[in-house]
Formats: sequence, structure tokens, C-alpha cells
Amino acid sequence: MTDIIQLLPDNIANQIAAGEVIQRPASAVKELLENAVDAGADEIRLIITDAGKQLVNVVDNGKGMSETDARMSFERHATSKIRNIDDLFRIRTMGFRGEALASIAAVAEVELKTKRKEDETGTLLLMDNSIVRVQEPVAAQDGTSISMKNLFFNVPARRNFLKSNAAELRHIIDEFIRVAMAFPELFFSMQSNGQEVFHLEKGSLKQRIVQILGNNYSAKLVSVQEQTDYLNISGFVGKPETAKKTRGDQYLFVNNRFIKSAYLNHAVMNAFNEMIPRDSYPMYALFIDLDPAQLDINVHPTKQEIKFEDEKIVYAFVQSAVKHALAQFSITPTLDFELDAGIQQMDAVSKPVSIQQKNSASSSTLFQSFSQKHQAHFIEKRSDLKHWKDMYEPATVPDTAIPSLLPLPVETHTALQQLHQSYIVVQTQTGLMLLHQQNAHERIWYEKLQEAISGKPIAIQQSLFPVSIELSVADAVMLEELLPDLKVLGYQIEPFGKQAFVLQGIPADLIQGNEKSALEKILEQYKHFTNEVKFSRREKLLRTLALQNAIKAGTILSLKEMQSLTDSLFECAIPNTTPNGKPTYLAFQKEELDKMFGR
Ligand code: ADP
Ligand code: MG
Repeated sequence: MTDIIQLLPDNIANQIAAGEVIQRPASAVKELLENAVDAGADEIRLIITDAGKQLVNVVDNGKGMSETDARMSFERHATSKIRNIDDLFRIRTMGFRGEALASIAAVAEVELKTKRKEDETGTLLLMDNSIVRVQEPVAAQDGTSISMKNLFFNVPARRNFLKSNAAELRHIIDEFIRVAMAFPELFFSMQSNGQEVFHLEKGSLKQRIVQILGNNYSAKLVSVQEQTDYLNISGFVGKPETAKKTRGDQYLFVNNRFIKSAYLNHAVMNAFNEMIPRDSYPMYALFIDLDPAQLDINVHPTKQEIKFEDEKIVYAFVQSAVKHALAQFSITPTLDFELDAGIQQMDAVSKPVSIQQKNSASSSTLFQSFSQKHQAHFIEKRSDLKHWKDMYEPATVPDTAIPSLLPLPVETHTALQQLHQSYIVVQTQTGLMLLHQQNAHERIWYEKLQEAISGKPIAIQQSLFPVSIELSVADAVMLEELLPDLKVLGYQIEPFGKQAFVLQGIPADLIQGNEKSALEKILEQYKHFTNEVKFSRREKLLRTLALQNAIKAGTILSLKEMQSLTDSLFECAIPNTTPNGKPTYLAFQKEELDKMFGR
């Protein structure tokens, strides 16, 4: 038997290792920005071409590197930030694994220019496939400029996996924001295809938040500030009225490192408790600082997840600190209490519902029997669509005599009745149906929008008073990408300067007014889908607009509207549920009703 295990050649091993650290242009952006911060720079510039696919360049005025260090920096596990195992428990820098530059050099072409203050000349380094092609002295500014070019030029399969430019640019902006938010005392700028997208002057955290997230937060931030021996918390939360439908504007940093933590997010949400509607998310930018020995940052390739020595204490502190801040700002004194490190806190520790508890609750049979109800409905009806077309035949009119969307003679409407401004009762040949007007309309719109995408654009009515809307950079990038599809779907929106848009027209059969808030809701809803599920861009858009355009529960309908709604629903390909699977109607057989009444 011959042995079959072989060592991978270095360049292949490097490419594989790189995959964990550098997945897309945004990963390089994060690593390079963090290196600039670690180098003590106070001016950091990010320059991007072609959403980073062609070029990611970070220029800093930090301490630079010697000629030897410049070369060393691209070796795997080469770092100036830790020397021995003990240092691992004292990490205050963003990097420490010495992997980023090695990873970048394995999957892209690299150009490095660097110079220390104390040196006469700088060093130029050109690399590809982890190999140094050129190393020579060069005239350079103090500091470092690293360019990553043609990402994945040597790993075409990975290159093909990159998303559209707009999507990759969004990831880049996310990473840029996460670093820039954590260091308001440093200047940051970002330029994309020659256009400056961010120009963030040094300032306070509050100024930085407003610069990044938009002016609408300027008078709406509540300061969070608690200091204890164990940890400090500082930062801001948005006043409850700024809560949004998406979790976009939520930033949590631990020792200045952006992290994702569902557990601590829960702590903040818990502190807001009754102050915001369900399904909405408050803005926050919170900074937890504690002894690095209490942390393990080394549990995740990109360090976005960390382990706390004692997570429950951190949870309790975060929750109390936010509650305290909110109580101080709010007029009602009921929430007021002092934060002390006593037993009071430990009590709070036992209260929060852990994720595990939540999971076990949702796997219980009770929970399942609840949620399966909808599914049963969904599957059952879906399997015999024809059957239910038959069911809906208004008793008073023959099927063929119902021209859709046209009013019927008044006497044929007697079988339609609106209840609670939400439901429509429809008499059928064999019983009755209860339509949910909003769910039903959502389905109608969804299919109409599907048709629009496949070639029947929706008629647009020009707005009488076109409204303009100013967006954050991230939202503007997102909207820009959606404009062509939106137009087909009945929303005519034109860019108006860098971050502003004008809404010129909406679908012809929507009522004018409130266009601005409609557009805001569309963006929020779209982001909501982006966070929650993996749909294609178009699918997300269809679902978003279907939700937005649908008449809401609580709207009084005329007879004509009820008739048109009912007819249109049953012309749908899948009339029985919303795109999300909620029932649009419930049917009751007269026979069964009779039985129930002992007849
Ligand atoms: P890490 O940041 O984990 O140490 P990197 O691969 O990102 O690993 O960088 C390797 C080393 O290169 C760093 O430890 C640092 O000494 C040096 N370095 C990287 N970027 C810069 C920079 N912009 N300015 C100065 N030194 C840098
Ligand atoms: Mg680094």
C-alpha cells in the first residue's frame, strides 16, 4: 500500500488559509483599515475601484515599516503585535495573528509603499502569488500605502463568487463604517471610483455617528455611560422614536472591535422593552471596554465573534446601563434606578431569556402546533387549486359574468360585507369565506409585480409634488442599485446629487400622498428581507413592494373595492396565501356550519 497523504504546496495552502480571512474585497478593507489604526495613524484614506474587485488601497500616516519588516509583514504568522503566549491576554491592537497580509498576497496582486519617519527613503514592494517580484527603495510619504489589485486573479472560481458591484460596495461600506465609528478621533475618508463617499473629520463619537448615520439622529441620541471596576460602557442609543424596522443601525464594540453578539443585542433590546413597538430595532453604538484577559478574541477567523470570560455579567451591565440611560432621558421616573455592582445586578442576570431557552421553546410541540397551522393551510390548498376556484363562485352571479375589476350591478353585492375594517365576508356556492383584505391584496400585488418584471411594466402616475429624500451613504448605494427594477415596478425615482433622490412617480393605482414615508418604508422593508432571508434581489423587491402597496387592515373599503379585491384574488395563480405563506382567506362549508348548529 502506498501512502496517500501529501503536504499541499505552499501556494495552495496559502490560498486556502486566505479564504478564511479574505472572502471578498470588504474583508481586505477591514484588515487594511485595522492595520492602519494599529500603526498609530490619525489620517486614513480608503480608495476603491470597481467595488474593490480591481483595487483596494489604504493610505495611512502611521509609523511605517523598515525595509526588512516590509518584507516580513507578508509572511504567514508574522506580526509585531504579540511576542509570546502571555501577550495574547493583553491584546489592545486590532490585529495579532499576522495572517491578513499573507492572505491578501496569496489571492491578489499587492503593492506596498512604506516609510518610517526616521528613514530617508521608503520601500516599494510588488508581489503576486505570495512572491516578491520587486523590492526597491522609493521616495514616499511617512506612513504606509497598501494596494490590493485584481482580487482572486489567480483563483477564478472565487472571483466568480463575488456579487454585483453594488453588493460588494455595500459590504465595503459596512466594514468602513465599523472601523470609522470606533475611532472618531481619527480622520477617515473613502473614495469609490474617483468619488468621495465619506469624509469624516476628527470629532466626538456623537459627531461621528451623525456623520455616518445621518442628521436625523442629531437630536435623538441618548448617552450611555457607566463605569465599574470590571468594565466600562459608553456610547449612544437612539431615542425610542428612532427605532426602525431593520436592525441596520446597531453597533456593538468590545475594546473598540466591532462584534456580532445576538446575546448582548438581546440585552439592549431588553432594556428598551416596552418603549418600542415589537419588530422594531433601536439604533445603538455601544462600546464595552474591559480587561483583555476577560476575553477570547481568537474564536473566529475575522474576529467578529468573541468569548467573554463571564458573559452573564456583561449582559447584566449592558442591560442596566441602557435602561439607566433611557430612564434618565425619559420623563417617567418609573424606570429610574441606580447602577451598582450589588446583588441587584446578579438578580437581573437570572432574568434574561437566553437564546437556548428561546430555541427550546420553539422546538416544543406547543409552539410547533401553532406555527404548523399556517403551513397545513398552505400545503393543503396548494395541492388542489382548482378545487378552490370552484368554491369561489358568488351564489348570485354566474362565474363567467364577472369581468374582473369592474363593478357589478349593486344587487349582486349583497353577499359582500366588511368586518372590523379588515375582513370581507363572501358568500360562496357551498358556504362562505372570510378574506383578510391586507393579506389578499398583498398576494394580488405580488403577482402583478411578477408580471411586471416579466414584461408588463406597471403604469406610473407622475407625482403632482415630487418629493425628495436624503439617504445615508449605505442606503443610497442600495437604492441606486434598485432604480431600474423599481421603475418597471411603478416607482420612478431619479438620483439627485450624491445621496438624494427625487420620487417622480408611483404606480398608477396607488393614492398619492405620503410618498416620502412610503419610500422610507420600502427601503426599511427591503433591508429587513436582506437581513432575514436569502432571496434574490428581485424577489426581495417584489415582496417589499407587495407589502407596501397592499391596502392595510383598518381601511374602510367600498363595495366596489371589495368586489374588485375578491375577483382579483381569485385570478391569482396561488390565491390562498401571501408570498410569506400567511392565509389570505378562510373557507367554511355550509354543511359543516349546519352540523355545528345541529342541523
Ligand atoms: P497583524 O495585524 O495580525 O499583526 P497583518 O498581516 O495584518 O498581521 O500585518 C503584519 C504586520 O505588518 C503587522 O504586525 C505590522 O507590524 C505590519 N503592518 C501591517 N500593516 C501596517 C501598516 N499600515 N503600517 C505599519 N505596519 C504595518
Ligand atoms: Mg492586521
